[in-house]
Amino acid sequence: MVSAIKENVERIRGEIAEAARRAGRGADEVRLMGVTKFHPLEMMLEAAPLLDLVGENRVQEAAEKRAAWPEGTPCCPWHLIGHLQRNKIRRALENFDLVESIDALETACSMDRVLREGGAERTFPIFIEVNMSREPAKSGVAPEEAERLLESIIKSAPSLHVEGLMTVAEDTDDEAVLRATFGGLRELRDKLAAASGLPLPELSMGMSGDFALAVEEGSTIVRVGSAIFGPRNYG
Ligand SMILES: *Cc1c(COP(=O)(O)O)cnc(C)c1O
Repeated sequence: MVSAIKENVERIRGEIAEAARRAGRGADEVRLMGVTKFHPLEMMLEAAPLLDLVGENRVQEAAEKRAAWPEGTPCCPWHLIGHLQRNKIRRALENFDLVESIDALETACSMDRVLREGGAERTFPIFIEVNMSREPAKSGVAPEEAERLLESIIKSAPSLHVEGLMTVAEDTDDEAVLRATFGGLRELRDKLAAASGLPLPELSMGMSGDFALAVEEGSTIVRVGSAIFGPRNYG
């Protein structure tokens, strides 16, 4: 029997490939992240071989899942995609391979200090999260502040390597709004890359409801939760 998870991933991969083709891109330019917050370890173990990345929102939940991960069972890299509290930085650095949600210099500088403890020269990859839709309740730096944040991180947190940008689009079916958000993040990336000299190859954008549009607009990582795993149980 083919499981629902496997079927879902295959369908989504097909939709990513079609969207990439429409945009003259290759399907292999887009990585599929399974967003596993509030989903149990058993589902993750089933999905892991089919995914390129795992995304979790909370450091504590990810740390518990990683501790319970069976020895010898392969997994793909883990990205933190939720807000990083200052008191969770050490655990985040221990449990994630990349943090996508950096929107404040203070957080970046604290990460940098932990990375250099004891004279170590560890580097760590991050993305800058941009609040393209300017919703007040949302994390992310305002688009016009992103260049200044990037320059400050380069100067003041040299152990961090900024590899790209991340955004969460507005919750809407309005295709024009979504395209403006995703295309806007791509244009912002181009501008920041030119200004900083960093290549900034990664654009993490697109979720269950809008990943195909995001791929058409240049996404390199789509973060898909409910379309793979079903509704989340917040109980
Ligand atoms: C939960 C979450 C997702 C996945 O959302 P779905 O709509 O379930 O695909 C993607 N990105 C972030 C930042 C999230 O918090």
